[in-house]
Amino acid sequence: MEEDTKDLLQRGYKKYTGHEVDVYFHTGKCTHAANCLKYLPSTFNMNRKPWILPDAALREDVKRVIATCPSEALLYVEKNDSFFV
Ligand code: SF4
Repeated sequence: MEEDTKDLLQRGYKKYTGHEVDVYFHTGKCTHAANCLKYLPSTFNMNRKPWILPDAALREDVKRVIATCPSEALLYVEKNDSFFV
């Protein structure tokens, strides 16, 4: 799900910046279902600071796992795809 970034920050989300995708997390919405930790531990790891590293996995995997978050505690915003070869 893509969201307006300013709105997300106003709604209490914290931003974790990545090169291709920014991840947003809302502590109060997290129901600790642990889908993120279980399915993508390279990006989501509670034993590390910051606990979310958007660039530690492929963009598509980050998006796929965020889609399994049952509480909308995790959201993402993709960066502009335009780059030059
Ligand atoms: S998948 Fe969502 S609800 Fe579950 S632990 Fe991760 S952020 Fe929290």
